[in-house]
Amino acid sequence: MSALRQDSPSPRGHRPLTAADTAVSSSDQPAGSRTQNSAVPRRGSLMQEPVLVLNATYEPINVTAVRRAMVLMLKGVAQAEELHSSEVHSAAHSHRVPSVIRLVAYRHIPQQSRALSRKNILLRDRNTCQFCGRVFPSSELTLDHVVPRSRGGRSTWENLVACCYRCNNSKGDRTPEEAGFKLARRPRPFTLHTSRQLMRLIGHRDERWRKYLFY
Ligand SMILES: [Zn+2]
Repeated sequence: MSALRQDSPSPRGHRPLTAADTAVSSSDQPAGSRTQNSAVPRRGSLMQEPVLVLNATYEPINVTAVRRAMVLMLKGVAQAEELHSSEVHSAAHSHRVPSVIRLVAYRHIPQQSRALSRKNILLRDRNTCQFCGRVFPSSELTLDHVVPRSRGGRSTWENLVACCYRCNNSKGDRTPEEAGFKLARRPRPFTLHTSRQLMRLIGHRDERWRKYLFY
């Protein structure tokens, strides 16, 4: 971890925030690259835009939404490192929304602090059914116990995978081998590596994340 950081230029020393970073034309707005939304983000959707969260040491630790990031800034817990090209308006002010924030105080993040949850398992498996390999919206996926619970399979990172309803039904109370299914990948707990890859996936359209994620 520390070796990786030393190899890379410190984000702060890398390039100071310039006027060009803050005065971005509307064509730079992430909404432009979206397929579902109209060209101009609705305020609600802007508040849901992903924000990269850095530890005080500039280590990327999480992804949150604009709304939550702004709460952390208001509380003085975090400060903006990079700004989004869009702003939100209140009665008297307009606020640039953050694209990257950094915690003011260092927070120790245990390697496997990710909660075992449906959301995180779908995130790890990238919303892909681990048996048929197709990508589904979250609402069309369930969690499958690779070794069924009735056979002693536990609810762990290693035994839970994203699964479409069709595969889940046809697998039933059998192991993948018995059902003639093959797992797309061996399920693993979230690791720092996995998280960083996910952060890159989530942030691939935001240039401002790059220097913190080294891609
Ligand atoms: Zn499937």
